[in-house]
Amino acid sequence: MSFEIYLAPFDQHPQLQQRVRSVLTSLPEHVQQDFVTDERFGVALDNYEPGKGWTLFMPTPGPPGHGSRRVVLKPRLNDLPEDFSLYVIAHEFAHAFLRNGGWGEITDPEDAADALAATWGYPRPATSIRSLLQRWRRGQ
Ligand SMILES: [Zn+2]
Repeated sequence: MSFEIYLAPFDQHPQLQQRVRSVLTSLPEHVQQDFVTDERFGVALDNYEPGKGWTLFMPTPGPPGHGSRRVVLKPRLNDLPEDFSLYVIAHEFAHAFLRNGGWGEITDPEDAADALAATWGYPRPATSIRSLLQRWRRGQ
């Protein structure tokens, strides 16, 4: 299965591109099929620049009951520790697969994405996510 179309946005971020590739190619085949056969699925680089705002084109949401399937990843995932970065990427793909909804009996979308990503081999890292995210948001 070819994922090149989803990897092109990361040409300027080779390590992130490799991380996205390794997560995508590791997903169960039915998940990969679900993505590549849905033209509403896509992957984009969040190209926020301080002082300029976001220039990313955000597609209008689909009809009710069809959550966004666009995965938007931050450039900083290129430089964060690998286990954390892979976890975030897998978590975002899980949201896309679940259409930002729940999973089985797990109704909270965040818990559902975490649980599904864990079954794909990307558990939430033991490092405190909260402290990592706080450092990340402060740009350190
Ligand atoms: Zn989430």
